[in-house]
This record gives sequence, C-alpha cells and structure tokens, in this order.
Amino acid sequence: MPHHLSVRIDPNSGFCFGVIYAIQMAEDLLDEQGYLYCLGDIVHNDEEVERLEQRGLRIINYDELAQLRNEAVLIRAHGEPPSTYQMALENNLTLVDASCPVVLKLQNRIKTSYDRQDQIFIYGKHGHAEVRGLLGQTSGNAVVFENLEELLRHELPANITLYSQTTKSTNSFYRIKDELEQRGYLVNANDTICRQVSNRDKDLRKFAAQFDQVVFVSGTKSSNGKVLYQVCKETNPATHFISKVEELCPSWFQPGQSVGICGATSTPMWQMEQVRDALLAL
Ligand code: SF4
Repeated sequence: MPHHLSVRIDPNSGFCFGVIYAIQMAEDLLDEQGYLYCLGDIVHNDEEVERLEQRGLRIINYDELAQLRNEAVLIRAHGEPPSTYQMALENNLTLVDASCPVVLKLQNRIKTSYDRQDQIFIYGKHGHAEVRGLLGQTSGNAVVFENLEELLRHELPANITLYSQTTKSTNSFYRIKDELEQRGYLVNANDTICRQVSNRDKDLRKFAAQFDQVVFVSGTKSSNGKVLYQVCKETNPATHFISKVEELCPSWFQPGQSVGICGATSTPMWQMEQVRDALLAL
C-alpha cells in the first residue's frame, strides 16, 4: 500500500558558504585541466566526494603530498597548518587555497593570541583537519580537548584562553566556560563557532518540530553532522540518521505522515532531493 507521505526539504540545510566555495573552485579547475589533487576529503560526505572523483578529483594524504612535485593541490575549507605551505614551497607545488575565510580568521586570531603568550586551550576534535591547522598556529603548543573531563585532567593555569573549532556546539562551549569560572579560573572565552553552524541550530529546531518524522542526512565523518543530528533528535525524537538514500527504512513511516528532510553543512542538496524522491515513491 502506498505511504502517501508529505515531504519537505529544509531550505536552510545543505552546504555552508565555505564548502560551496571550495567545491566551486574544484569544479572550475576540473573543467580546465581534467584532474585535480586535493589534500584530504574535500567535504565530509562520501557521496559528494565520489561524484567529484568521477570528474577527476584525486584525493591524497600527507604522505602522497610529500611525494608530489610540480602540481596544483587544492586546500579544502578546513584549512592547513603552516607546515603544509612550507612543504608546498619546497616541492614546487601550487596550492589552490580554498580555506574558508572564517577558518583563516580563526587561525590568525590564535596566532596573535599565541604570540601574546596566552595559554591556549582549543575545544575541538583530536586529529580533525581544522584542529590540526589551528594547532599549527601555536607550533603544537596549544592544548586540544574534547570535553570538560579531558580538560580537567590537564594542569590548568589561573588564566585560561579558550577557543573553539568552528563546528562545535555553542551550548557545550558555554557550559565549559561556566564550569571553569565556577571552579575559580579566569576565562577569556572566544566563541569562535561558525554562525553557519550555530544559527542552524535554532533554524533546525523550528524545522524538526513541524513533522511526524525527520530524516537527517549526513556523512558519518562530519562533526557538524553529529551536532546537528542531536539538535533534531532532542526536538523531535522521531529523527532518523542516514548517510545515503539506501539506508531509508520504509517501516519508519506510517501512511499519510509528514516527513522533514534536513542535513549538515556538508550535505549536498542533490542528496536530500534523492531522499525526497525515494520517500515520495514509497
Ligand atoms: S562551517 Fe563555517 S567555518 Fe566551516 S567551512 Fe562552513 S562557513 Fe566555513
């Protein structure tokens, strides 16, 4: 029996401007030269990476970069530490820099702060590309932590300078700041969470509340995807996470229900459209 679902895609979901810019740059160069090297996944979404690889994008890691000579290499929106720029110089590589302007600004702020000899603590994910780029501004001397418990395991100075990876949750950042202040630390808290992420928080809550079921589409590697999925799930417990259309499960839906489709800042619109079409065909 057909489900007759009424389905709507969140108009505010989909790529943030940083990712749109990087993909646009990659597509322009792919049109021009037929192939392009890119350091790391251009976006944390396997489906979009696959689409671009079919057009000639060649994703490489640091070891492969070290072997490369005389080529152009795209730097994705997450940015890179100074050591990558140094390696490019030594190996005659042309970096096509699609680092997001928001990330570049944060890198500069952290560099200035480090030069002022602030004791820097970065709320972010260990090993994440953006975090490596931020840490590189301090020659590896800042402390990265993923949660309060981890932070408290460090010997903390009386004056703490806090920064955040751009895709972390604003609420958690301020909870950490408050907790430190209650423990008597002087906290210079720099809320450096990207507005493309923190505003989406509010927008998504409003969107998710309107439907019987919500399908959240995101790559499993996206930090921003994990945060925004939790936001939807808190607002509407009938939220289902999928990373591709094949993972849709018809038994989640009752005939006649309304379904909202939304996603992370790394989810392409074409993927949400695929999900919509699959739901309408149930
Ligand atoms: S989430 Fe914000 S900081 Fe990150 S790439 Fe997008 S626009 Fe830039």
